[in-house]
Amino acid sequence: MKEYLTLAEIQEDLREGGLTCVKLVNHYLENITSAAHLNAFVEVYADEALGAAATVDQKIKDGTAGRLAGLVIGLKDVLSYKGHGLQAGSKILQSYEAPYTGTAVQRLLDEDAIVIGRQNCDEFAMGSSNENSSFGPVLNAANNSKVPGGSSGGSAVAVQAGLCHASLGSDTGGSVRQPAAFCGVIGVKPSYGRVSRYGLIAYASSFDCIGPITKSVEDAALILEIMSGQDNFDSTVSSKEVPAYSSKMEWNGKAKIGYIRETIDNEAISSEIRQQTLDVLNRLRAEGHEVTPVEMPLLDSLLPTYYILTTAEASSNLSRFDGVRYGYRSPESVDLESMYKKTRTEAFGEEVRRRILLGTFVLSANYYDAYYTKAQRVRRLVREETNRFFEQFDFLISPVTPTTAFTIGEKTEDPLQMYLADIFTVQANVVGNPAIAIPNGKDDHGMPVGIQIMAPYFGEEKMLAFASYLTELNKKVAVEYNTNH
Ligand code: GLN
Repeated sequence: MKEYLTLAEIQEDLREGGLTCVKLVNHYLENITSAAHLNAFVEVYADEALGAAATVDQKIKDGTAGRLAGLVIGLKDVLSYKGHGLQAGSKILQSYEAPYTGTAVQRLLDEDAIVIGRQNCDEFAMGSSNENSSFGPVLNAANNSKVPGGSSGGSAVAVQAGLCHASLGSDTGGSVRQPAAFCGVIGVKPSYGRVSRYGLIAYASSFDCIGPITKSVEDAALILEIMSGQDNFDSTVSSKEVPAYSSKMEWNGKAKIGYIRETIDNEAISSEIRQQTLDVLNRLRAEGHEVTPVEMPLLDSLLPTYYILTTAEASSNLSRFDGVRYGYRSPESVDLESMYKKTRTEAFGEEVRRRILLGTFVLSANYYDAYYTKAQRVRRLVREETNRFFEQFDFLISPVTPTTAFTIGEKTEDPLQMYLADIFTVQANVVGNPAIAIPNGKDDHGMPVGIQIMAPYFGEEKMLAFASYLTELNKKVAVEYNTNH
């Protein structure tokens, strides 16, 4: 089967008669089987997906198929899909099934997307390497000794390795964009309040966003357009109209681009990523865009702010997992208190326990003002600084990550090193703005490099058009490079 970059190509072949959804699903099922060692899927819905494919094939014949006919997707194991297992990569939700389907997933189903399975991820979406899953680590398909990134690692690898056409992940501090960059695919974090969180297992509710992982910007735009918009089940979703992102992909004119000097002039960034980011900025300059370095003094406060606020929210959100109503319950418990303690100690992994403890600490009476209140204030300052930036600029460009995918096990002993993997992605979540990661070549070892474009709040439309333009520009340069060498 040919490799499809876009859903539009799939739909063209479906119309021409040569391709069917059943053939497509069978193709992905074969790939999933032969790539089982990557551990990207926790569960595969083979029969169900084939059944859905036959239904969509019939709808195509009848002329009643939805806009996503031919789209085979995987869902990160934090997204509710009625009657299907849902565990957030955790033992504590062992044998739990989603009692309803979340809004984003339902909207894709309503347009005839086919769900092929649920995907491995870091436990409760906490992690940057997919090593914190109770289902074991996921391997990067470009090099099996490397991590895929996290926490949506399985979702990124599934797209990278052709196990499905697109995935839905969640991004609280970079969990869609960082694995997308490590795997050479595209990942979008929408504005906070663009996509309903109904049916998403909460990690840090004021940061969490559902986002697509795809092989083309076009597909990300279409999926986002369909998932977005007001929802009676989530009052934090904006009532702002959803632009038709996918039909507005033309970029015209010159952009004003800013980049933060320290995101490039920094020893912690690998020299290849630094060079490839500079190359993009120079390329854009050569095309007539305005590219300006700026200072962002609050950059150093981003990670501490992120980790104080998200652990605080997580400690509260995760208090519902206590062994009483559903999921795992310790067989050793003798009374109520020991049931809580033993259940949570036995079934939460080390990183989740660390974050619950940290979050409980920053919220405790004696330290609340020193940590939580202060971090809220810093969040406000970062937001103001970012808003001032976007009064002058259309986009903020940066690397997605300081290094390419690291070796499995390399950072597991040192949580702070692991947290640094998110240094460039957390800003968008701290302030709520949209950001996209797109591929930007490879390093000398063949590992993917990404580049990030961040846009003003609810500026998805321009961001996607510009990302598509930049993807084409990068391709053109790559072709010229190959012809000249
Ligand atoms: N790696 C970050 C964390 O562990 C981001 C996770 C996410 O976006 N879900 O918090």
